[in-house]
Amino acid sequence: MGQRYFNKEIETMSRDELSALQSEKLKKQVRHVYDNVPYYRDLMDKKGVKPEDIGGIEDLHKLPFISKSDLRETYPYGMLAVHLSDCVRIQSTSGTTGKRVIAYYTQHDIDLWEECCARAIVAAGGSKDDVVQVCYGYGLFTGGPGLNGGSHKVGSLTLPMSSGNTDRQIQFMMDLKATILCCTPSYAAYIGESLKEKGYKPEDNSLKAGIFGAEPWTEEMRRDIEKSLGIKAYDIYGLTETSGPGVAFECAEQKGMHINEDHFLAEIIDPDTGEVLPDGEKGELVFTSLDKEAFPLLRYRTRDICVLKRERCSCGRTHVRMSKPMGRSDDMLIIRGVNVFPSQIETVLINEGYAPNYRIEVDRVNNSDTLEVFVELSPENFTDTVGAITAMEKKLSASITGILGIHPVVHLVPPKSIARSEGKAVRVVDRRKLHD
Ligand code: ADP
Ligand code: ZN
Repeated sequence: MGQRYFNKEIETMSRDELSALQSEKLKKQVRHVYDNVPYYRDLMDKKGVKPEDIGGIEDLHKLPFISKSDLRETYPYGMLAVHLSDCVRIQSTSGTTGKRVIAYYTQHDIDLWEECCARAIVAAGGSKDDVVQVCYGYGLFTGGPGLNGGSHKVGSLTLPMSSGNTDRQIQFMMDLKATILCCTPSYAAYIGESLKEKGYKPEDNSLKAGIFGAEPWTEEMRRDIEKSLGIKAYDIYGLTETSGPGVAFECAEQKGMHINEDHFLAEIIDPDTGEVLPDGEKGELVFTSLDKEAFPLLRYRTRDICVLKRERCSCGRTHVRMSKPMGRSDDMLIIRGVNVFPSQIETVLINEGYAPNYRIEVDRVNNSDTLEVFVELSPENFTDTVGAITAMEKKLSASITGILGIHPVVHLVPPKSIARSEGKAVRVVDRRKLHD
């Protein structure tokens, strides 16, 4: 067994000490932002809040929110809080939901981000004796650089594979005996499928753990990946605006992800009213970065919907846990007035024995929304008897209707006919937007 914590003092700090630390950092950070970011200073002035009104974390609610539209408006450097010459790196969002947003880092910011990733790797059982295969994309996307830096900090042997070229991934995984795999869950599922096709059994590889994130995935998908790779699969969460992956990570308990609260102060708000909700209620996650220098966002609205849990975790970490985000508020589809998250459909598919290879298509015909779900047959359940396929489609459609309350048209399609993803999977095609 390697060490259990990367930074024991911080990760197991008592709540009182942690709150005091957060309050101290918050006061400084608000002053830093007010003095150096005119855009945010204006927002504070409009709200009638001055840095001296913030005496600690209990005053956080007085500050104005920042959202992705503010970041687009101030692109590229409107949020910069230091001299550009003090920055050493730029990263960018994947642009999943629109124009890319860029983030900038000083060396201090890179260090704290990499430490967050190091904590995640150690929590997944990593140590200097591990071989960490990073197949998140490298480059502007934060996944590769974040886990790469974290792995270096832990002292593991790092394989900077980046995404794609699955044959080479598998060859290196086998030849170099990778023990920890880092990538998106959809790519992990694809690697599992490819290993099987090449005739490998789950016990043939040396992997013990995977650290998967950057996109929503269900518990059912976790079990599938764990089975196909013979590993324990850990969730990791983050977004470019707050650094990248590592803002929160799972420990061996796997009951929510610990938020690195010494760096990121979390709140849950009602996405419609902006009101702060009590712990345990589901709402939009909002982050305040407590000691980033270059791009220090205060009360940033993530649009990710989740729940915060403060019960003590048996792993000894004291930091608050967030539930798996069930998708972003803007991933949620409203179909015939019903709220639908793609993850709900994924859960049904896996429970019914299908692999998580699917595409959801929404359209509007004669003023009424249509929902079609394309699902791949696996080689095991493949049949070309029309009657059998129709019966399977009907059964799946009924199960989805039971969960969503609306009826989808299900199309079972041949194995391998849905494109695989090496990065973030695109599961939804909403054609209604084209008609608007
Ligand atoms: P983009 O917004 O363009 O996708 P990022 O690459 O920064 O930019 O992605 C951050 C987003 O990815 C988060 O806001 C969240 O919606 C999603 N995400 C990241 N990690 C997870 C995870 N473990 N589970 C679910 N969603 C995640
Ligand atoms: Zn824990």
